[in-house]
Amino acid sequence: MSLYYYIHGSGLLEIKEVALETFFNYKQRSFFHTESGGILFGYEYEGRICIDSVTVPSPKDKRGVFHFFRDKRRAQELVDHEFIRSQGKHIYIGEWHTHCQSRPAPSSKDIYEWRNAFDKSLLNLDFMVCIVVGNTMSLGNLWVGCVDGFGVRQIDSLSHCEGISQGRVDD
Ligand SMILES: [Zn+2]
Repeated sequence: MSLYYYIHGSGLLEIKEVALETFFNYKQRSFFHTESGGILFGYEYEGRICIDSVTVPSPKDKRGVFHFFRDKRRAQELVDHEFIRSQGKHIYIGEWHTHCQSRPAPSSKDIYEWRNAFDKSLLNLDFMVCIVVGNTMSLGNLWVGCVDGFGVRQIDSLSHCEGISQGRVDD
């Protein structure tokens, strides 16, 4: 089961279940859990973007209750490696991290950092997808946004997972 979003001007965004499950497994269960995060990978075809794999925290990332700083060198290595391995098909889509919030929303620092990352990065797409993961027991408790030259904006969900409750996936 995937979640679908609509990116204005760019089309459909699909987040595969395997990615949703990784977010769920790393969510901040309590205030004292540290933030987690990583990179979103996926592919683009016929105007549709699909996130089908995400990286998880590495030992070099600096994690805290209120922040998550990715090890930028390792992240770039992963992106380059994946790009070469897939002959340019499996690409960097954006970033994800967790918050200790039931209704996840980016902080002003998140927005600043995403815009900075967008300005400084050479991207395969002309935008980045940024996801903040909430801490409830439901799969897909996410804030999903799009970062481009105009700024950061939340994008609309087109569907909710059916058959998923209390974080269980019934298929
Ligand atoms: Zn944040």
